[in-house]
Amino acid sequence: MFDTLSDRLTSVLQNLRGKGKLTDADIDATAREIRIALLEADVALPVVREFIAHVKERAKGAEVSEALNPAQQVIKIVNEELIGILGGETRRLSLAKTPPTVIMLAGLQGSGKTTLAGKLAMFLKKQGHAPLLVACDLQRPNAVTQLQVVGERAGVQTFAPEPGNGVGDPVDVARRGIDEAKHAQHDIVIVDTAGRLGVDEELMKQAADIRDAVQPDETLFVVDAMIGQDAVSTAEAFRDGVGFTGVVLTKLDGDARGGAALSVREVTGQPILFASNGEKLEDFDTFHPDRMASRILG
Ligand code: GDP
Repeated sequence: MFDTLSDRLTSVLQNLRGKGKLTDADIDATAREIRIALLEADVALPVVREFIAHVKERAKGAEVSEALNPAQQVIKIVNEELIGILGGETRRLSLAKTPPTVIMLAGLQGSGKTTLAGKLAMFLKKQGHAPLLVACDLQRPNAVTQLQVVGERAGVQTFAPEPGNGVGDPVDVARRGIDEAKHAQHDIVIVDTAGRLGVDEELMKQAADIRDAVQPDETLFVVDAMIGQDAVSTAEAFRDGVGFTGVVLTKLDGDARGGAALSVREVTGQPILFASNGEKLEDFDTFHPDRMASRILG
């Protein structure tokens, strides 16, 4: 996904190599190029502004280093700032002191929530947990069946409304799902919720009602990295409407520019916990800001 950005940044930084000393003008020119590359990759403007300001300030004030030449110093600074906007440290899922840990998924329809539920369940099962999926997306036809199918693939159980009771109350299903988890000794509950094609009040209210009913330990906002600039405005809408404790980026295998998704951490202040990069349940991992920065800087 970040090939173009990666190529651009690599070539900008490459231009510095071989320079014995960097003048302020060199740094300004480099910063300008980096700014263009980030904006073209769809990184949100406020994020770009802050990033560039930090890079310039640090590069101009950089200490003369024995170990690094000026170009290497700028690369190091850009790398560190990139890791910074991606969240710094890897943030692990926080588990409840008293199980079950409740993880609620929220996001637009098509963002990859249901697929993610299966991916996360399989990931956690491999770590020795016993997750239960709870089907609270009663809006989209087939969402319940789809969750049951991914659950089966992941080898975990799914709690769903009884057949014939399809258009039930998602809040009630969520509550009963938690009871079932306690009863059947599941230590993690993953609650799939309904998404709409666009942000709307009803969707937000429903997600907020489920949140109030299940008191999640983690609410993960699932965002499709392919939707470009809308990723940031959608994240803001979910932050204000439902609130979330972490972000999952999906479809990082796509060929969109993806910079908007990379801005979500900085714009919302919430960390990116996981990344999805394909349709298969295995195409999923913990998000590591440092590895993503290395991938982008080539
Ligand atoms: P939901 O409406 O949010 O539950 O979204 P789904 O889980 O149904 O996913 C919507 C579509 O995106 C499905 O066709 C998924 O197979 C696909 N999808 C989900 N995650 C990824 C991903 O990381 N990469 C790709 N390429 N496709 C994905």
